[in-house]
Order: sequence, then structure tokens, then C-alpha cells
Amino acid sequence: MFRRILIANRGEIAVRVLRACRELNIETVLVYSEADRNAQYLRLADETICIGPPMSAKSYLDIPSIIAAAEIADVEAIHPGYGFLSENAHFAEVCHECNIRFIGPPPEAIASFGDKQRARAIAKKAGAPTVPGSQGILTSEEEAIRLAREIGFPVILKAVAGGGGRGMRVAHNDVSLINGFHQARAEAEAAFKNAGVYLEKFIERPRHVEIQVLGDREGNLVHLGERDCSIQRRHQKLIEESPSPALNPDIRKKMGDAALAIVREAKYENAGTVEFLLDPAGNFYFIEVNARVQVEHPVTEMVTGIDIVQEQIRIAAGERLRFRQEDIVLHGCAIECRINAEDPDANFRPTPGKVTTWMAPGGPGVRLDTHISAGAEIPPNYDSLVAKLIVHRNNRRDAIATMRRALAEFHVEGIKTTIPFHRKVFDHADFIAGDVDTGFVERHFSMK
Ligand code: ADP
Repeated sequence: MFRRILIANRGEIAVRVLRACRELNIETVLVYSEADRNAQYLRLADETICIGPPMSAKSYLDIPSIIAAAEIADVEAIHPGYGFLSENAHFAEVCHECNIRFIGPPPEAIASFGDKQRARAIAKKAGAPTVPGSQGILTSEEEAIRLAREIGFPVILKAVAGGGGRGMRVAHNDVSLINGFHQARAEAEAAFKNAGVYLEKFIERPRHVEIQVLGDREGNLVHLGERDCSIQRRHQKLIEESPSPALNPDIRKKMGDAALAIVREAKYENAGTVEFLLDPAGNFYFIEVNARVQVEHPVTEMVTGIDIVQEQIRIAAGERLRFRQEDIVLHGCAIECRINAEDPDANFRPTPGKVTTWMAPGGPGVRLDTHISAGAEIPPNYDSLVAKLIVHRNNRRDAIATMRRALAEFHVEGIKTTIPFHRKVFDHADFIAGDVDTGFVERHFSMK
């Protein structure tokens, strides 16, 4: 096992990795930018190193600074968390060249799944169902129109290098397709420095259901069941739960098998997530693989009893998986709310600033993953996630009751948060009935 690890991230996921390390008796080195200099959570690390100014490009995304910190601090491995450098194949390679273990999949697997068209090709080769769509990058408006007519409207344009719901446009006819084609390309170029877009059939009223996988360095692979992440705004997840209210054991088995076939095809190792859309008729289609630990991993930890971050570290250190597929059993129901520093009454505008009151929920069935406490300053430079409120109960009805109670207890002052939005969702009859799809938020919560 590693003696000392560097955590190349910030905020709640840095705290999450710190906790896993502490329980494994591993020393921690945490990097921070000048914007996080006074953050209280830095105290949880054994050692901290400033890696640059607030701007991510010059700190959390700056490979030379992070490698220099790792060398100075003499660590054996780097945990990248999610976001920032976690899906940067080049960074994983640089770590390898510098004799530092990257806690994540091999660079080749990151590169394959980082390109959504390559990922689709791998899924097809593995025999998994994919959404009908273009074979490669669209080269012209004419090609887009021809393909869209062939597949049938509506279609969705997606960035090959996409992530975080950016670079996507839905088109219902030729005119919206032509406009969408140029908008999606411009947005993709700005966000990912890669204007490549492709086209897929737009699945109507789908649920987003994803499978968590773990694989060791010897090629043993298991999946840890699914997460339903259908409560989204602008293609970004807000609430996740496991198990999915929409899966029966038959679909769960088929989806799990498909997920394993896809990652096996890519010689995957460590933690990853295979994402699918499930249509109202019960057909599912592969959409992408996230080659890292995800924000919503805690719901799977709660229902399986497996500490995914600790497993990531064990796997990277060369340990064999300690369980087989038949050992994985889902217990009860877990739900997570992403608490963001955003104002739900002002179109979810980010609300950086000083937290003056932080009254956090607790009690039976409640887990709170956060880096915040009263007095914390939320810098404007990074994403707006301030906490993940997770509940775990024997069944979905009880989990909803616990979440409502926990949301009622949660009081934050100084900044606006998405807590009031979550309270409304947990009062909504369709959500309580488990009858939702990815359009739920847009349909029921008129966004000004
Ligand atoms: P990103 O990498 O930006 O997160 P994804 O491919 O994971 O993009 O898609 C994010 C979300 O966009 C999905 O959860 C779903 O809500 C929507 N989406 C993506 N592809 C389709 C599709 N073909 N039909 C309908 N919705 C889609």
C-alpha cells in the first residue's frame, strides 16, 4: 500500500479522498490555489502546498506545478478526484513517466472514452446497444441534414470532446438543425478547444441510468449496480439515487452485463461509470463512459457498503479486487441531493461569497459530504457544489422521508443555495412516485 498520496483537487472531493486516505493510514499532501488559501478543510491534510493563482489553468489544471509539488512532497501516487485533470490522458502519462502512480484508469482507456465517437465504437464492438447516430464527426450542414432525415427528427448534436452538458443542441427540423450545428460547434470549440460535433437520435422522455464499475490491474471487473440520475437541469445532474425505481432485475442484469462488456473491451481498470439512457419502453442505449470517480458515487457506496474511493486507491496500489460479482448486493435505497451555491430563483445563478450560518443536518440515515462550515468563503473561480446530502434507508419511501427531514434541518445563510429547490422536488407527487425523466425539472419548475 502507498505511504503518501497527493490530492490534486479541491472542495468536497478533496475531503472525500482525505477521509479514504486517513482510514487506509496513508499520509496526505493537498494542493491548493491562492483562492483556497484560507479554506478550513486544508487542515485535514498532513501537508499542504500552494500551486498557483486562483485561475484553474494556472493551478489545479497546471500539470508542471502539480508534478513539482508531488516530487517535492515525495508522494507515490496522485488522486485526481473528478473534474480538473481526472480525465486528462496526458496527465496520467506524465505521472507514469515521473514514476508516480495515477489513481485512475490507464491513459489509453481515458483517451478512448474521452472521445465520444471512439467510445460509441467500443460499445458497438462490445455488442452494447448505442443510440442510432452518425459514424463520425459531421463535416457540413448538408451531411447533418441528410443524416437527421435518415435517422428521423428529433436529433441531438453533441460535442465529441463534450462534458458537463455543454456543446449539446436538440433539433426538431432542418432550420433548428442548421442553427444548432453552428452553435454546438462554437460552444464546443470554446469549452473543449475541439469543434467536432456528431449527431444522435434524440430519445424522448428518457431516464438517465448509469452503472458503476470497478476493475483491478489483473483484469477482474465487477459492477456495483446502477444510479438513476434523471433529475437534471440543462443536462446536469441534481439528484441521484440507487437503485433506479425504473429497473427490474432483468434490465439491471442486461445493463450491468453491457457495462462490463464495454469496459472489458477497453482494458479498463480502476473506477468508472458507464452511462445509458433508458426509454419509456424499457430499451436502453449506451451514451458515454466517465473514466473517473463521479460526484454521485456515495449513493452506490451506501447501498453496496463498498468504499469506492478506498477501492480506487487499493486497485492503483496493485491489490486484487476483494469481491466477485455475486458478492455485490444492493441494500435499501440511497438518494443524493447536490447542494450548490446557486440561486434557484434567479435561474441558478452562482452565488459565491461568505457563508455566515451553516447548520448541517445529521441523525439516522444521513451522510453529508462537504468541505464547508460557517465562515467559509466560496470563491467565484470554481464549480458551485458546496455539499452532497445523502440519505440511506431500507426503502425509497423512508429515504424520501429522511431526505425531507434533513432538508428541513439544513440552514445556510450568507449565500443562496439549491436547498429550497430540493425541498420542492421532494414534495412533488411525480418524484415521490418515481415517475420522472430527464425533462422533469424543465417541465415542472418554470425557469425564469
Ligand atoms: P455530458 O458528457 O456533457 O454529460 P452526456 O452524453 O453524458 O453528456 O449526456 C448528458 C445528458 O444529456 C443525458 O443524461 C441526457 O439527459 C441528455 N442526452 C444525451 N444524449 C441524449 C439523447 N441521444 N437523447 C436524449 N437525451 C440525451
